[in-house]
Amino acid sequence: MIKHTGGCHCGRVRFEVLAPAAIRVTECNCSICSKSGYLHLIVPADRFTLLSGRDVLTSYSFNTGIAKHLFCAVCGIKSFYVPRSHPDGFSVNARCLDEGTVEDMTIVQTNGREWEKQYPAGRGEFRDA
Ligand SMILES: [Zn+2]
Repeated sequence: MIKHTGGCHCGRVRFEVLAPAAIRVTECNCSICSKSGYLHLIVPADRFTLLSGRDVLTSYSFNTGIAKHLFCAVCGIKSFYVPRSHPDGFSVNARCLDEGTVEDMTIVQTNGREWEKQYPAGRGEFRDA
């Protein structure tokens, strides 16, 4: 595990996340992820630290309301959020990680459009992302 850093476009939201240098991320076809081009690096909550920007984070929810789509109210970028599949963790947008620490990225497709079929247990597992 190494420490990656990242954040939103304007720089108000900044975070640290512990993950391997070679990360496994998921690309989801659901209504919101496909529009934003989000790449999910999903980690348990204790591997994510918000360094700044709590005051500018705005939350958007739809459908079940379990996912908390957090975005910067100044620049509009969703750099991390609490996903429906892992409500006890965080999904970091791999596109928002700073350059220099990610050595390799494997993109795996996930079928969020048919959420109940993708997650029959009602949630996803934590993999060694
Ligand atoms: Zn911002």
